[in-house]
Amino acid sequence: MAKKFTFSAGIHPPHGKKQTEAEPLIGFPTPQKVSIPMAMHIGAPAKAIVKKGDIVVAGQCIGEPSGFVSVPVFASISGEVTAITEVFHPMGQMVPAVEISSNGSEETVTLEPILNWREQSPSDLINRIRDCGVVGRGGASFPTHVKLSPPQDKKIDTLIINGAECEPYLTADHRVMLERTLEFVTGSLITQHILGVEKTYIAIEKNKPDAIAAVKKMLESIGDKKISVIALETKYPQGGEKQLIQAITKRQVPSGKLPMDAGCVVTNVGTAHSIYKAVAHGVPLYRRVVTVTGKSVHKPGNYIIPVGTSIREILEYAETDLSTIKKVLMGGPMMGLALASLDVPIVKSTSGLLVLETTTPAEQEYNCINCGACVQACAIHLIPSHFSKLVKRQKYEECEQKNILDCIECGSCSYVCPSKINLVHYIKLGKNRIAAAKRAQSLRKDGQ
Ligand code: SF4
Ligand code: SF4
Repeated sequence: MAKKFTFSAGIHPPHGKKQTEAEPLIGFPTPQKVSIPMAMHIGAPAKAIVKKGDIVVAGQCIGEPSGFVSVPVFASISGEVTAITEVFHPMGQMVPAVEISSNGSEETVTLEPILNWREQSPSDLINRIRDCGVVGRGGASFPTHVKLSPPQDKKIDTLIINGAECEPYLTADHRVMLERTLEFVTGSLITQHILGVEKTYIAIEKNKPDAIAAVKKMLESIGDKKISVIALETKYPQGGEKQLIQAITKRQVPSGKLPMDAGCVVTNVGTAHSIYKAVAHGVPLYRRVVTVTGKSVHKPGNYIIPVGTSIREILEYAETDLSTIKKVLMGGPMMGLALASLDVPIVKSTSGLLVLETTTPAEQEYNCINCGACVQACAIHLIPSHFSKLVKRQKYEECEQKNILDCIECGSCSYVCPSKINLVHYIKLGKNRIAAAKRAQSLRKDGQ
């Protein structure tokens, strides 16, 4: 019997990918104006190094990193810096930003390509990846140079390239695997070389058979014995780092620990593509593929869009009937973020825009009937029903003892709850309160 690669628990929401999975990657026209946030990654924001009136070229550095866990930020179009300002980040807070107005030029600037990357030291390649502002494109935006620099006492033997794209409606990674196969596979080989691992797996869910076939064919032609394709069972949240590690290596990442504690590094297909561009072409990360989808989007697709482009402009270009839309999610329906305004820019982590024409009226929440469905669904083996009850009673310490911080906010528990309890909402609230209490405690300590 063929081996099944998957994790225990999880759910099967409708895929919703039909509308865009066959839509080829297509360039978005240069916008008249972009507002590029200096904080698009986990860690310290970049510091703007341009001023109003400066003329910049797409690919030019406009923000310097301010620490190890930070990356530079680049102009995504050519034109004039028209403001050093603040913008509303899609995550919901005001952040410093540089506004650029296009001067019509399509000029770009790159760093020197590194063609002989196999002869380069890992540290030189890591420096190049940092200098090109590469961050995780799968959602968390963790600086990639940090991820590829594990402490010396952590032995990494396995690299997993995450092509699961398990979030419904999103097809950006699918199209990159089909249309940029050699590029992202080369990015995977560069990452393999940097980490010096014995094994690299490109993990793709079985609902993308054309991508599995394309990548297999490419690997056969390359003939590198260390790298292979894994066809994963289609299940949500199969693309979570811990779920991928369990599915492929059968290793468990312990509570509160990271993939490197299980000897693994997991990076996304889009990130591998950005690594290739940074190393082989010297192209910084300033554009990305965004799936634009939803029933009222008349030109749905997988668009390559300059970072900083307004979401309103993107939806208008995709011929979206703005009069009918009720909600726009940045990301998919399970983990996407509801946008408070369309006048916010896309950032390095924007994988998709999902337009919803109806909002389900806030459903009445009923009492927990202790059915256990949420427990069965939870890929992390938590007890979500406990968290909602504890958070309502403000018992945050108890939540922490029950490992609430391990929750990956996948939303599976809320999805299956017959009592319509928005469990993930309570969990996020609990996690925020714990983080706030920790911040207050450390401020008190610093003040002593
Ligand atoms: S508790 Fe967290 S990890 Fe578990 S199903 Fe709910 S949202 Fe997902
Ligand atoms: S799924 Fe809902 S009703 Fe069932 S145990 Fe969990 S919280 Fe309670």
